[in-house]
Amino acid sequence: MHTPGPPLGSSILVLALAPVLFAASYQAGVATVVITPDEPIYLSGYASRDHPSEGVALDLKAKALAIQDKLGQRTLIVSTDLIGLPRSIADLVAARIEKDYGIGRAHILLNSSHTHTGPLLANNLNLMFELSAHDQEVVERYSRQLTDNLVALAGAAIGDLGPANLWFGNGQAHFAVNRREPTPSGIKIGVNPAGPTEADVPVLKVTGIDGRLRAVLFGYACHNTTLTGEFYRISGDYAGFAQRDIERAHPGATAMFLMLCGGDQNPNPRGTLPLAEEHGATLAAEVMRVLAGKMQPVRGAVRAAFQVVDLDFAYHTRETFTSRLQDPNPVIVRHAQAMLRAYDEGHPIRHYPYPVEAIAFGKSLTVLALGGEAVVDYVLRVKKEYGAKGILVAAYSNDVMSYIPSLRVLKEGGYEANESMLYYGRPGPYADDVEDRIFATIHKVMARVGR
Ligand SMILES: [Zn+2]
Repeated sequence: MHTPGPPLGSSILVLALAPVLFAASYQAGVATVVITPDEPIYLSGYASRDHPSEGVALDLKAKALAIQDKLGQRTLIVSTDLIGLPRSIADLVAARIEKDYGIGRAHILLNSSHTHTGPLLANNLNLMFELSAHDQEVVERYSRQLTDNLVALAGAAIGDLGPANLWFGNGQAHFAVNRREPTPSGIKIGVNPAGPTEADVPVLKVTGIDGRLRAVLFGYACHNTTLTGEFYRISGDYAGFAQRDIERAHPGATAMFLMLCGGDQNPNPRGTLPLAEEHGATLAAEVMRVLAGKMQPVRGAVRAAFQVVDLDFAYHTRETFTSRLQDPNPVIVRHAQAMLRAYDEGHPIRHYPYPVEAIAFGKSLTVLALGGEAVVDYVLRVKKEYGAKGILVAAYSNDVMSYIPSLRVLKEGGYEANESMLYYGRPGPYADDVEDRIFATIHKVMARVGR
C-alpha cells in the first residue's frame, strides 16, 4: 500500500524523524538462547511422573542481561525457564564466565523460574525419580549442554553492550495464593487464602538512548505449577507465556522472568494449559502497564556482595535412617539409603552452604537474591526491615538446593519444611536457626552494598 507523505525535503519532516537521544547511565546488552531439550527427557517437579516428556507446548529459554556502569564494572543477570539450577551447574557456569569475561561471582545472578514442565537437571531433586540408565544419561547430557549454553549466552549479552538507561517500578498481580492449607492432620498442599502472600511485580526496564525498550526484567513470587503432574509437554508455565506475550507486544525487546520468594505460593486456579496462558497474560499485562507508566530512573555505580552461610540440619543419627529402610514408600527408602551412604563414607550431612547475594545500582535499586525455594515470609521480612521502595527480592537464585522455610513454616511443618527434603536428598528439616542465619547474612551483604 502506498500513501503519499509530506515532501521529503521538508525540514519539519526531518525534525519529526530525528530520534530524541538520551544520555546513557549504563551500557546494557541482552541475549537469548533456546534451551528446549532436543529429545524426550524426564520433566521435574512432580514425583508422580513415570515417563519422559511428550512434545513441546512452548520453547524453554535462557536469557542474559549484561549491565556495565560508568566505572566499567559489569554485572550479569541470567533468567532460565528451568526447575532450579543446582550449585554444581551454577558455580561451574559462574567460574567459566569469570574466566572468560572477567565478571566476579558477586556480579553474576543465575535465577530459575521453577517451571514444573521443564527438564530434570543433574544434581537437583535427584531422589525424586528412580531413572533408567538411559533416562539418567539424557539428564546428564542435557545438563552438560546447558552449562555450555549459559556460558555462551553470557558472552552474547556482553557482546551486545550498548548505551542504555534503566528504570524501576512496581505492579501487582493476584493469581498467587498461599498453598499451605491447615487440616486436622497437619499442613497440606492446598489453597489457603488466609495465609501470607505477596502481590508485588517488580519491573526493571532497559531502554536504548533512542528511548526504545530493549529489555524488561520482571518477577513474581509464585510457583510455576499451573500445569500439574499429568502434563508431559514442555513449557515455561505462566512465566514462559508472560515472557512470550511481552516480547510479542514489543518486537525486538527481551522479556526476562525472575522467580521471587514463592516457595509456598501456587497459582490459583491451576491444572490446564489455558490457565497457564491466562496467568501469563495477566502478568504480561501488568508488566506492560508498569512499562507504560512513570518509572523511577536507576542510576549509579553497581556494587555487589555474595556470601555463603552454612545452614545446619536438625540433628540426626544413623538410626534416624536405618529405621526407615523397611518403609513401604520407595522414596523414603531411597533417601534413607543415600543418607546411610554418607554415614558410611564418614561424612554424615550436617549442613549446607547457602548463597546470599546483593546487587545495588547506586541508591536507586537493590536486587537481593536468595538461594533455594524461599517462602514468602522472607520477602515480607526484608521489606519490613529495609522498606519496600527500590528493592527486588528474588529467590531460586545461584543454587536451588531445597525449600527454605521461615521459622514459622519450619515449626508448622508440612511439605516445605519436611517432606520435600526427601526429594532434594537433604537429611531432614533445617535447624531452628535457619531464618536467623539467613537474615544475619542478608544484613551483611546489604551493608556491603551500602543499603
Ligand atoms: Zn517448589
